[in-house]
Amino acid sequence: MAKKQFKAESKRLLDLMINSIYTHKEIFLREIISNASDAIDKLCYASLTDENVPYTKDDYKIKIFVDPEARTITVRDNGIGMNQEDMERNLGVIAQSGSLKFKSENEDLSEADTSIIGQFGVGFYSAFMVSDFVTVKSLKYGETVGAKWESAGTSGYTVSECPEKTTVGTDVIMHIKEDTEADKFSYYMDKFVIRDLVRKYSDYIRWPIAMDIEDQHFTESKELDDKGRPKYEYVTDMVEVVMNTQVPIWQRSKSEVSDEECKEYYQKMFYDTNEPISVLRINAEGSVSYKAMLFIPSVPSQDFYSRDFKPGLRLYSNGVMIMEYCADILPECFRFVRGIVDSPDLSLNISREILQHDRQLKVISNNVTKKVKGELIKLMNSDRKKYEEFYKSFGHQLKFSTVSAVQDMREMVRDLLLFDVAPDRQCTLQEYVDNMPPSQDRIYYVCADNLRTAMRMPQTEAVRGKGYEVLYLTDPVDEFVIRALDHHGDKFFQNVSKGDLGLFSEEEKEATAKAAEAERDLLDFMLETLSGQVVDVRFSTSLVSYPVCLSSEGQITLEMERYFRSVPGDDGSIRAARVLEVNPKHPSMDKVREAFKNDKARCADMTKVLFGQASLIAGMPIDDPAEYTELVCSLF
Ligand code: ADP
Repeated sequence: MAKKQFKAESKRLLDLMINSIYTHKEIFLREIISNASDAIDKLCYASLTDENVPYTKDDYKIKIFVDPEARTITVRDNGIGMNQEDMERNLGVIAQSGSLKFKSENEDLSEADTSIIGQFGVGFYSAFMVSDFVTVKSLKYGETVGAKWESAGTSGYTVSECPEKTTVGTDVIMHIKEDTEADKFSYYMDKFVIRDLVRKYSDYIRWPIAMDIEDQHFTESKELDDKGRPKYEYVTDMVEVVMNTQVPIWQRSKSEVSDEECKEYYQKMFYDTNEPISVLRINAEGSVSYKAMLFIPSVPSQDFYSRDFKPGLRLYSNGVMIMEYCADILPECFRFVRGIVDSPDLSLNISREILQHDRQLKVISNNVTKKVKGELIKLMNSDRKKYEEFYKSFGHQLKFSTVSAVQDMREMVRDLLLFDVAPDRQCTLQEYVDNMPPSQDRIYYVCADNLRTAMRMPQTEAVRGKGYEVLYLTDPVDEFVIRALDHHGDKFFQNVSKGDLGLFSEEEKEATAKAAEAERDLLDFMLETLSGQVVDVRFSTSLVSYPVCLSSEGQITLEMERYFRSVPGDDGSIRAARVLEVNPKHPSMDKVREAFKNDKARCADMTKVLFGQASLIAGMPIDDPAEYTELVCSLF
């Protein structure tokens, strides 16, 4: 039979496993058991809709055999099984999930990287940490001929028929390595060691993990003693002992399971090397009973902001997993939450479509959603630093939900949003409003590419000058968020680069209008010079130290234009109507006035330069940079 080679990356991983100096080699058992349990889950799930499955829930079992003479440990399950094709696909290449990430992040698998094995495990391959030969015999449910996979490690593997495997399920037979100076592999030949490992790592596996253990006791023998009484003898029987408590971690009471255990469980189950930011446990009893264990990750997974990400909670009913990714429990805005919901009230035999209309699930969904929001608010109020960390990871998701979602969702996330108001301070909308002096009647915001630019936008000076804070929005989606939210309480949002900022009294505005009227000719001249580029040139009330700034009129703001410009395929049809605002008190305006009197061509050039400056400050591109540069030089 031809020996096949492992794929290159699998080979590297195998190398690491075989030569591992990792001290927690014992986790191999956890990995093999976890695969067995998954295989049983799959068959059990299939049995919900397929009455030909020969087992009932009580028949499922994982059994471990330790044979010191043959120097093997066998893990047997009566799960879904594998045929030859499955073996090729699943055992010939590196496992998909966590291991793939492991592979890409650790191109040269150095010794230090081995700690990662302990953190999320690398599945089946870990068997090679303790074995020099592994045989997998399996009969897939629904098939008649078994399959066998054999490998001594990196040299490759073979797959063949296995007629002797006649019961549905899989046997993983690990031939344990000989002892070395550093490692006494014989240690695993002790049943009590194995029992302890099962209890340590796999206690919560839902299926019984059994082993035959010698039970020594006295029993009556058939022989009689000289007084005619039955003799007693010391005998050793084999009894099958279930080693794990089988209570899933989320079913156990809070007092029984430490936070650390929950976090560890999360890391293993959801392949995350980072600890979750929060663990949420819910034990609800009432019209609908359910238990939930939810995790708020601290860092988004690599695919979180991509289409590949699968949101959803694991849904269990009566201890049977009915859906791995049930996306109907939490709304879109909380799609980063991972975890488990287990309710005996859910019908087992449900399809995705029915589930969406399931009354019980709706109740659970409302409850769980409220709890997640409550947890985030709690975190925000009790540990702002941690919340800010969370927000850095998932704030984008929250913001996105305000834009794309329905009104309910918008209100759901409103209180969870944070905005920059200073380089080292973020606040919620409510905090902003609470901080407003009595004279302030609106929420000021400015959009820019980054905080520094935002803070230096000319129009913000006057706002700050009044003692008001400004929300500095630097995420392209921010402007849309503000539009979607529309207002907060009775306070409306005011973009500082759009329209009347409401900062000045009627008298002040009148004075500016009068000044503009007095210089109408100049302003008209400037407008004409910039015809086609701006819709108006005005004297500004809000400029302090800057000579000019750009603002917009109408529905489309400069920020929106900038956003659409960045979208591939932009056809230029969405453009803001620009207004050039000039500061009549700025010294440069005196030069412009002088040129207007004496040298109109120079005045026109100066106007163009000022417009260019205003565009640059606003972060907008200049139509003809070469012409602009020439103009600036010509004024020297
Ligand atoms: P992972 O469990 O992370 O997918 P593994 O390397 O542990 O990665 O396993 C690879 C695949 O091999 C599993 O996803 C499963 O399809 C298959 N497999 C492993 N063990 C068993 C088993 N006991 N029964 C059925 N399939 C199995």
